[in-house]
This record gives sequence, structure tokens and C-alpha cells, in this order.
Amino acid sequence: IILMKDIYKSYKMGKQTLPVLNGISIKIKRGEFVAILGPSGSGKSTLMNIIGCIDVADSGEYILAGKNINSRNEDELAFIRNREIGFVFQKFNLLPKFTAVQNVELPLLLRGVKRTDAHERALKILEGVGLSDRANHKPIELSGGQQQRVSIARALIGEPDILLADEPTGNLDSKSSKEIIDLFIKLNNEGHTIILITHDLNVASKAKKVLHIMDGQIYS
Ligand code: ATP
Ligand code: MG
Repeated sequence: IILMKDIYKSYKMGKQTLPVLNGISIKIKRGEFVAILGPSGSGKSTLMNIIGCIDVADSGEYILAGKNINSRNEDELAFIRNREIGFVFQKFNLLPKFTAVQNVELPLLLRGVKRTDAHERALKILEGVGLSDRANHKPIELSGGQQQRVSIARALIGEPDILLADEPTGNLDSKSSKEIIDLFIKLNNEGHTIILITHDLNVASKAKKVLHIMDGQIYS
């Protein structure tokens, strides 16, 4: 579902260039559960942004779900991103004034889905992540692990094939981390392709495949 070949990316700051990805090649099949493990600053988030079509590589080839991602404009990237990928972040990025179910249904409302349909779908997905009883609570009234489950539900609402998570347990204690990882395992068993970015060896060990990133290169 993901094929990357010889991806390079550097950041330019004034006259300086900071090389971050130095020839990354990866292959991820549909239904896999892959962890990308590497130290801080090794380029994990940079790679995640490219996988998620938030950013583009300087050079190299990237094919996502059969579509060549090179040389797409921003509108095309947004379209592909919205259809293929659900994002989960370390900071849950929930809207504080919205309840759990409102946070989850929002992406559908923005796409023009009818409010009652969006609401029903959101409740169903919240049920799937074990949060039926918290649907009408605001983020501040939920634990960290529950907030992360809301954000996973929001990532799932567009029915993406791929879940892309950048340090999803970075803000959680070990018990909540384990619950979140178990949820990813469940979603993987239900057919989602999971790509989990982390610097936590414990978390990475739960994935079926681990790719190590160091100095902008992959070692598997
Ligand atoms: P962490 O584990 O701390 O999240 P990471 O592996 O995700 O680290 P990246 O965020 O990909 O690392 O950053 C890789 C390098 O690129 C770092 O040296 C960082 O300072 C630099 N960098 C990241 N984003 C930018 C940017 N937008 N502009 C300039 N430099 C950047
Ligand atoms: Mg990062």
C-alpha cells in the first residue's frame, strides 16, 4: 500500500540546508502493523509527514495506494490524504469546546455529510473504541487515554485504510499506553494498516514489523 524509493528531504533555513532523510526506501503492505523506531531528531515526523502527504520529498519516488504522489499539487495531495489516511498525534488535538462525539463527527460535517448521519456514524465509531459512555463529555472531562481514543475515533471516521500515528502514547502513562496499543492491535485485526512512529522500544515491540530510522536512513 506504500512504496518509497530513495526519498530525500532537507530543510532550508536561509543559506543553510539541514539534510534529514537521506535515501529512505520502504515497502508496507496492506494490513501490516509497522512501527518506525528512532531517536529524537532522526527524522521520524518528517517521514510521517511525507507518508501522510502533508509534505513532499525533495527527490525519490512515493506510491501510495497505487497512486504516484510525486508532482501532485496541494489540492490533489489533500484529496488523497483525506481518503487514504487517518492521523493520530501525540497531542490529541481535540477541540476543547466540543464533546467527544462532536469532535469525531466534525470531519464528516466539513465534508457535507448530513448532521444526523454524521452523528450516528460518530457514535458507532466511539463504541468501537470503547467510549460509548463518554460520548457527551468534553476533552477536559476525559482521561488522557480516553482523549487519545477520541482522536483515534476521529481518525477513523473517514474510513481510511491507513492509520498513521506519531508518538500516540507520548503523553500517556504506561497503563493508558498499553490500552491504546491494544486498540491499534484490534484495529489492525479488523483490517487497518497501522503505521506507528515512536521512540519507545516497548511500544514498537508490539508491532509486527519494526523499521529503525537513524541519521535519515532505514535499518530493518
Ligand atoms: P522527535 O522524536 O523529537 O519527534 P523526529 O525523529 O520526529 O524527532 P523530526 O521532527 O523529523 O525528528 O526532525 C528531524 C530534524 O529536522 C531535526 O533536526 C529537526 O530540528 C529538523 N526539522 C524538523 N522540522 C523542521 C522544519 N519545519 N524546519 C527546519 N528544520 C526542521
Ligand atoms: Mg517527531
